[in-house]
Amino acid sequence: MKIVLVIAFAVIANGLYGQKPVTTLAEKGNELQQPFISKLLELPADKGECMTPAEKAYYDQRARELNEKWRQQLAAEGKPVPDTGRAGRANHIILEWPMKVSGDYDMQYKYFYKGNFVDQYQDDTAVHLDYNCWSRTYNGHDASDISLWPFWWRMMDKMYVTAVAAAPGVIIEKVDTIYDRQCVIGNPGSNRVWIRHFDGTTTRYHHLKKNGVTSKEVNDTVVTGEFLGYIASSGNSTNPHLHFAVYDWLDRMIEPFFINNNCNFYATETWWNNQEPYWDSKVNRVMTHSAPPTLEHCTEIVNAKNNFNPGDPLYVGIAFSENQNNDLATYIIVKPDGNTFASWFVSMPFQDIRNYSVDGYTLPAGNNGTWKIEVTYRGSKYYHFFTVGCPANLAPGGTQSGSNGYIAANTISSTVNHSISAGDKVLYQAQDHIVFKPGFRAPAGVILKTRLAGCGYAE
Ligand SMILES: [Zn+2]
Repeated sequence: MKIVLVIAFAVIANGLYGQKPVTTLAEKGNELQQPFISKLLELPADKGECMTPAEKAYYDQRARELNEKWRQQLAAEGKPVPDTGRAGRANHIILEWPMKVSGDYDMQYKYFYKGNFVDQYQDDTAVHLDYNCWSRTYNGHDASDISLWPFWWRMMDKMYVTAVAAAPGVIIEKVDTIYDRQCVIGNPGSNRVWIRHFDGTTTRYHHLKKNGVTSKEVNDTVVTGEFLGYIASSGNSTNPHLHFAVYDWLDRMIEPFFINNNCNFYATETWWNNQEPYWDSKVNRVMTHSAPPTLEHCTEIVNAKNNFNPGDPLYVGIAFSENQNNDLATYIIVKPDGNTFASWFVSMPFQDIRNYSVDGYTLPAGNNGTWKIEVTYRGSKYYHFFTVGCPANLAPGGTQSGSNGYIAANTISSTVNHSISAGDKVLYQAQDHIVFKPGFRAPAGVILKTRLAGCGYAE
């Protein structure tokens, strides 16, 4: 990873940036700014073995005991054992995504990336291939690892993301007493919840938060999407993530991800209702920082800042997940008067499960008010808003469109008609009070959030 990124920097510094077409420099008569620093952060390699062979053997033995007891109980009650294991999509559970995010702070578009999948060559210590015949796995891995991203410790501490039941079922195992902030490998045992489903399939949810799992007990039922626990980093884990494993009624491992390429030895069709693409290339979040952030396994310095003053350094941070070779994202920074301040791009020469780009600018005098960053990546747009020179009182009005939704001041009296699309987000932040006066409107489907916090507050 380290070597690859060094090469990436060299390519960016020597090649691609020099080839940037000069197409928009004279836009609206303003000379556009170029960043004084522009780079992809060097990120730590993804975690290794989050489940040791010994630990997996322990869990498998535990699961066999629980399932044997269950089969005996069914027999004693004269009920048939549902032998539906791998017989076809109609005969086994269909999985919904096992994680859920709460909160809509500051336009978090996606909150995870997919790390490791099931190792298709369980007994071969030399060959590790996933269901796509690629290498997003490690020796003997039996699950999907889904990591919080970006700023996983911050997301964990804010308890934004939960593990939820992927299908209805019964709790058969629950542990929540284990330390949950591990950042290095070598700590077996993790907080966990296991669910048995109607067809005898079990799903296992690992690395959960200490004292942070469902208050329901073993033998209680859960419905699809029900809270099971907060995502954390207990056990063999280098960062907050969910280890999600699926086993059928005879304790045979299932890889629920499937594409028709003969590479999945553990399923004959997808077990997901909506299967995530193998590479789901997205911007997870656009942020602004007072200084470049640090994203390591054991240390994380966010340096988040949403309210700036003229002359301040402005660092634009863009969190990408599952980007492709030679991916390109472009963005513009728009001033309150609608003129473009900067028009720049992020180049990602190499495919990666995640990337974080940082570009630094110096904010000019004047231009106080709400600024907008608009990122375009693979045909989708992603926004972030910040303010310069937080005013004492704001009285925005008129019709606003284009996800124009972050307004910060000491007090706000709004008569804005937010003519924006469903899913857009409007965030009002004021130290003292916020008043919505006649004329104010946010149409159905829009997420409207108000926050009583000063201009220095950022998340
Ligand atoms: Zn794992």
